[in-house]
Amino acid sequence: MNSIYSYTRDDFINYFININEKKFKADQLFDWLYKKRVVNFDLMNNLNKNVISKLKNDFIINNILILKKDIGKDVCKYLFKLHDDEKIEAVLMYHDYGISLCISTQVGCNMSCSFCESGRLKKRRNLEVCEMVLQILEIEKDIKNRISHIVLMGIGEPFDNYDNVIKFINIINDNKGIDIGARHITISTCGIIPKIIEFSNLKLQVNLAISLHAPNNELRNLIMPINRVYSLDNLMNAVKEYINKTNRRVTFEYIMLKGVNDNKECALELCKLLKNMNCYVNLIPYNETNNIQYKRSDMNILNEFYDILKKNNICVTIRKEFGGLVSAACGQLRSHG
Ligand code: SAH
Repeated sequence: MNSIYSYTRDDFINYFININEKKFKADQLFDWLYKKRVVNFDLMNNLNKNVISKLKNDFIINNILILKKDIGKDVCKYLFKLHDDEKIEAVLMYHDYGISLCISTQVGCNMSCSFCESGRLKKRRNLEVCEMVLQILEIEKDIKNRISHIVLMGIGEPFDNYDNVIKFINIINDNKGIDIGARHITISTCGIIPKIIEFSNLKLQVNLAISLHAPNNELRNLIMPINRVYSLDNLMNAVKEYINKTNRRVTFEYIMLKGVNDNKECALELCKLLKNMNCYVNLIPYNETNNIQYKRSDMNILNEFYDILKKNNICVTIRKEFGGLVSAACGQLRSHG
């Protein structure tokens, strides 16, 4: 399958040059696809017959199917069927600052974080570039509105599908296309160090979030197997390198798991780890799932943890909760096997 939605404008510039056409046709094509949202080559009436027949020959205009919508307050979870019958989920959230969409990057996930529902189905495959782009296009069509923010926090590990994810960001960020500002895009990773370094060299304005969840190796090894490959100390060095190269502030996500990582010692250790770093911490109330034994920390424990960080001059927020009732919250998305 050679989807038209898998290519950047630069790819199309090269394509048109190769077939002896003017390169501005790439802009026209992007305009049809992403501004006018036309899904039929024959309607692209500023491209000549010859170009249209070449495009038809070389690409398809595909879609992904919305199978189901779970609607909650300020939130809607979409279940999609892909061309090979695999299924993924995406979550739309209405904020006061705009509309954000949490998209999936893989079918299943191999990271095996012990608290996460999404990883219970092992990775079946990476999503193609078009399948990430189409999550946005199909949902914008459904809600007849524009999405302002994209977070790569659905099913999958974005940095385990690095090349496709970077291409996807290039496409949606293009001001001749969907035009979502880099600062409105957030990639979240469990800490694949070589890709964090590669990503920092791109010097994009895209936000980086690190799923930290523990302040030391011992605990992180227990709940996030990836830590046995890329240990906390190396991860912190990579993040520091990212901050130095990009001058961007990093977000650390920290799920509060009752009796596991939510005590005062953990809070103090976290403060020590993050001291003087250009970062902030997002404390996440754990979303319980039927299949996993962890429980959410009590609110007073969460507040105590928050206060300790604050007192130690760490920027910290408690994540606003969305989607709990429709199982659309972080870590509750799943690939349907
Ligand atoms: N693989 C990437 C992208 C997934 S993002 C990553 O690990 O960052 C999903 C975020 O939700 C991660 O921070 C993940 O650790 C967190 N999460 C997973 N299960 C959760 C749960 N049950 N409740 C709250 N957050 C959860």
